[in-house]
Amino acid sequence: MNLTELARQVKLPTKQLKELLPLMGYDIGQKAIKVNNKIAQEVIQKLNNKKQRDKYLALLTQDQAVEENVSIEDKKESEEKIIHLPDHIVVKDFARELDINPTKLVVELMKQGVMASVTDKIDYETAAIIAEDFGFKVEKLSAKKDEDVLDEEVNIEVKNKKYRPPVVVVMGHVDHGKTTLLDAIRNTDVAIREKGGITQHIGAYQVSVDLKTESGINKITFIDTPGHEAFSMMRSRGARVADIAVLVVAADDGVKPQTIEALSHIRRSELPFLVAINKIDKEEANIEKIKKELSELNVIPEEWGGDVIMVPLSAKTSQNIDKFLESLLLLYEVEKDSIVADPDGEVVGTIIESHVDKGAGPVATVLVQNGTLKAGTDIIAGDAIGRVRVMKNWKGEVVKEAPPSYPVVILGFKNVPQVGSILYTAKDKEDLKKKQREMRKRVSVVGFKNKILSQKRNLDNCLNILIKADVLGSLEALEEMIIDLDSDIPEVKINIINTGLGLITDSDILMAAGSDAIVLGFNTEILTEAQELAISKKVDVKTFHIIYDLLDYLKQKCKEKIQPKMVRTETGKAIIAKIFRRENGFIIAGIRVKEGRIENKTNVDIYRGDKKIDSAFIDELQSGKQDVGEVVEGQEGGVKLVDADIEEIQEGDIMVCFKEETEEVEI
Ligand code: GDP
Repeated sequence: MNLTELARQVKLPTKQLKELLPLMGYDIGQKAIKVNNKIAQEVIQKLNNKKQRDKYLALLTQDQAVEENVSIEDKKESEEKIIHLPDHIVVKDFARELDINPTKLVVELMKQGVMASVTDKIDYETAAIIAEDFGFKVEKLSAKKDEDVLDEEVNIEVKNKKYRPPVVVVMGHVDHGKTTLLDAIRNTDVAIREKGGITQHIGAYQVSVDLKTESGINKITFIDTPGHEAFSMMRSRGARVADIAVLVVAADDGVKPQTIEALSHIRRSELPFLVAINKIDKEEANIEKIKKELSELNVIPEEWGGDVIMVPLSAKTSQNIDKFLESLLLLYEVEKDSIVADPDGEVVGTIIESHVDKGAGPVATVLVQNGTLKAGTDIIAGDAIGRVRVMKNWKGEVVKEAPPSYPVVILGFKNVPQVGSILYTAKDKEDLKKKQREMRKRVSVVGFKNKILSQKRNLDNCLNILIKADVLGSLEALEEMIIDLDSDIPEVKINIINTGLGLITDSDILMAAGSDAIVLGFNTEILTEAQELAISKKVDVKTFHIIYDLLDYLKQKCKEKIQPKMVRTETGKAIIAKIFRRENGFIIAGIRVKEGRIENKTNVDIYRGDKKIDSAFIDELQSGKQDVGEVVEGQEGGVKLVDADIEEIQEGDIMVCFKEETEEVEI
């Protein structure tokens, strides 16, 4: 049972319960999130008994009384460390708030049995426990504030519920055949096959299945971005894009790390799913072994008494693809009551892909979730606006309408919308402007929040950056690499204040200016007016086509933030044998070189015994009445010392000659 759930049942704050358990004899460890059910039942029983409850709570107060004796200083410090946590937080943002390395946080989470990558979201309960372990006082951000940071939860009010085709996402370990499977499914469409298999890659497509269903639905929409990108999209902005997941496992390979990662995503999103056991055409294929491995993860096939449909198939030879599609539709039939939309209701969609086409301008793929998107309508998605000029489906056919679950490519955005942003339509120009103002406000709130964040960290050597990239895949790769780079450079903290897809726009520049950030573009360009704004706001903007060039630039920027190190090398030592003259501002002395060389025009330190008493500069150096550049070990010479306290230096003092050079910062 979750500790928070147990706390709720015994009507105590989680923190207090955590302190109480060891006093009750249950040492579950400081970092536990769960307690086993047996212990939970015992605790409930004990704390439900008034007498016992009072006894334990008294123990707690005693314990706290002891704690209160800790010094006021300590207390003050712990009181100052307050963290505000929303309902959900992305691991890397959380790491930033805690001021620890994201990888370290991932490890901490793993210790708690939570498998999450740096870009995953974790829930408030998990985050709160970890934050407390790091000594923070946790305060929950209210839902209102949460919304301010651009986490748009989309609540579509469905008045007139109608069944709609399910949206399916394919996940699994790399090379297990996700892409091949998506291709094989697409090719089941006769019309496409007849066209010679030429389809546009638009990030999603729909196929029909030859099966009569109770709901009357016989179509399935597939999101055609396998793997990582699909995860990110499902997480985006609280919108749930997919209704059903397919977990692909190769029959000749088995359960692998990304299979487990995919499974944990599926479970966390509470997505219904089925398993495609792929590559059964291969000789090494062992279907039973896969089922066994999955069962160990509590994914039990129907034929073994579990509830997970597993379809052995070959994406390569298309064997069993028809059965797989039928199984998907059957799973849909079980879930159909929650897969609904109102085709006549308000239009809500999600941008699932976007890029800039050299000829056509901003191009976005939208999956309509509610309502029917029509050509000619004014649209807004995040800070992008436009009007649906042309809509095409996955076959490249121009369509006038896109009903729920129907993916379309839209031309007509003025700027590129971010992947994951929610698309709305506007009734008229006035409505569009109003919605645009609302969106802008949200963006500026994000900028402000980040500014506070970087000030709070109060590091002079912070490099704030804003990244724009062409597609989600490259953006995420970049983010990961930048996080790695950041942990390689202890002297500078790289803060990613915002990321986005598409062209670099005015709002990017404004945000960068507000947070003193540089803007890095990858495979994208800056809009002309944004360029002018960047010049007037003195925002540094650079675009790249090669990731390593971008990283090199970033390294260079970090280097500039690091104070160069002065390296001192001693070149020689001499004894001041005789002082000939002390005059206004200089001393003429005879020296004998004991070690190395004494060079003209260099700095020297003067020592008496071990103690440095003065420093000086050799303005002239002679040997045998001749001006020389250096005098070496064993030789005698004469020096004119300046910049010294001329009364201080005495015969017998040691002069140490040194050079100081700035050392290149190595990153
Ligand atoms: P992804 O990384 O999961 O998208 O995997 P791909 O679809 O790119 O497939 C990886 C490799 O496995 C490719 O060489 C495919 O041709 C091969 N492959 C995929 N499905 C099958 C299959 O059913 N049978 C066989 N023999 N090879 C397959």
